[in-house]
Amino acid sequence: MDAREQLRRFLEQRREAGETELVFDSLSVDEAMRILGAGAPKEAGGRSQEAGNERNVRPEEPNRRADVSSAPSSDWRAVLKEAGAAPAPAPTEKTPRYSMPVPGPATPRDPHATEPLESVPSGIVIGGVGKELFGGTNPFANLAELSSAVGACTLCSLHLDAKNPVPGEGNPNADLMCVGEAPGATEDELGRPFVGQAGQLLDKILAAIKLSREDVYICNVLKHRPPGNRNPMPDEVQACSPFLLRQIELIQPRVIVAFGTFAAQTLLNTREGIGKLRGKIHRYHGVPLVVTYHPAALLRNPAWKRPAWDDVQLARKLLDRAISS
Ligand code: URA
Repeated sequence: MDAREQLRRFLEQRREAGETELVFDSLSVDEAMRILGAGAPKEAGGRSQEAGNERNVRPEEPNRRADVSSAPSSDWRAVLKEAGAAPAPAPTEKTPRYSMPVPGPATPRDPHATEPLESVPSGIVIGGVGKELFGGTNPFANLAELSSAVGACTLCSLHLDAKNPVPGEGNPNADLMCVGEAPGATEDELGRPFVGQAGQLLDKILAAIKLSREDVYICNVLKHRPPGNRNPMPDEVQACSPFLLRQIELIQPRVIVAFGTFAAQTLLNTREGIGKLRGKIHRYHGVPLVVTYHPAALLRNPAWKRPAWDDVQLARKLLDRAISS
């Protein structure tokens, strides 16, 4: 049976089981590709899919038909088992589209649910422990001043095409700060961060860790929309970074969550891909920083929802510990 036929049967079985989307809870991409006979992943220009801009990532499609005629069974569970993959648990309830996974018993892919925080590896450390990121020069006295400055900013060319500045919003005393990449079309239209489709998912992600938009502070690395949602350019990041730094300094969050490769790489000053940055506790001027997938990436690739769930649980644990200490 070729890979397409096998995939068709797999999908039929999932549909019969009441599932509306594909979530390979216990199966890595490499394992799935091996089962489909597609071999090892191809390096594209040195950048893995994960290292790319998730705002623009589309789930990879199999680019060739694979002969899996040696697969001894047409039942996907049996195929997985024979390939040595841990079987995915049978679904117990219908998962609505784009919802975060429901908290359940710990699984081997849910390390933060069982592991104490001490066993989560440390990541990159940026800066020392201190509140004054600007060394006391204090460019904006408060968030309102900062927002006005963003509105008047002409340091890069993004303001020329943008309809509105999107400085950020939320609780000025937030314990948790969410940092995304740049405003999209809806955000540009409304002048507010994460209010489009990705923003609706962000709301659900926050709800999964018992937080609302009003509890946290939400902003982006860039405060104006790049035309056509293109990737931010280095000079734009450089021009905009003082705003983000000052926001962090003013809010003094207890935990920062970087959503997506771009926010993570900018804050952590690294080119490492998100796969390597996730699952660690980084430090940003003493503040624990957790990296997870961008909500837009999750919309396109629901298989990342499980690891994203792990990531936000880690953020929640860090928050609980910070609040109780
Ligand atoms: N994507 C982002 O990174 N930020 C937003 O505000 C919206 C979409």
